[in-house]
Amino acid sequence: MGARHLITRGVPATLVTTLSIIVAPASASAPAPPESTNQHSVAAEHSSAHPQITAAEVRKALAEERKQLAEEAKEKAAAEAEKARKAKEAKEAREAEEAAREAERAEKAREAKEAKEAERASSGGSSPKSATADVVRPTTGQLTSGYGPRGGSSHNGIDIANDIGTPIVSVMDGEVIDSGPASGFGLWVRVRHDSGTVTVYGHINESMVSVGEQVSAGEQIATLGNRGQSTGPHLHFEVEQGGSNTNPLTWLNNRGVSI
Ligand SMILES: [Zn+2]
Repeated sequence: MGARHLITRGVPATLVTTLSIIVAPASASAPAPPESTNQHSVAAEHSSAHPQITAAEVRKALAEERKQLAEEAKEKAAAEAEKARKAKEAKEAREAEEAAREAERAEKAREAKEAKEAERASSGGSSPKSATADVVRPTTGQLTSGYGPRGGSSHNGIDIANDIGTPIVSVMDGEVIDSGPASGFGLWVRVRHDSGTVTVYGHINESMVSVGEQVSAGEQIATLGNRGQSTGPHLHFEVEQGGSNTNPLTWLNNRGVSI
């Protein structure tokens, strides 16, 4: 009791008694109730104001709820993942199908191209020219007179007015059959073509070709002038078929050339 005396010296007797009461049970080795170590029973003492819901029960319920929520979230995530996987698969399938169709189209286009090229090769190797591609207009300028009756006589060609010196070209491939002075035309050039058609270029200022010379469509043969019976600088252009004149405008138009 020496220790007890040290503590109690100068302390009122009532407090000593109280201390003894507090200390005694703590130092006593009385067996604790079996449930005293149980967390449940301890919690029950602290929440005695609400005996029907214990803190442990709340914690447990919360934990269960959290667990349930976690499981739900997990299930939801799994479902989303499955959905995404299926969508991806569907998309990939669509893309694969599209790619297959594209490949088929490309293959068909290639085959068609090859067939076309083979056909072209078998037809002599040269691309077929249209009949109109070989004819060009004889010169540039303005149409000032058409073909037909004019002032009590017949105008056997068309007139295209432009400045003196404007280039005049052969309208088709052919052979020069006339080049030089001609009555009424001053100077002219005549070209015979493979078909037998002859084209005439009158009132020219200067001839640039000789008789017997081969010329190509679009090749310059003369310059525009004002020689002979002419009222101003122009080209008088005629077309002869079977020895007779024909309307040059119609003839040119039929070959895709407009003046
Ligand atoms: Zn004329």
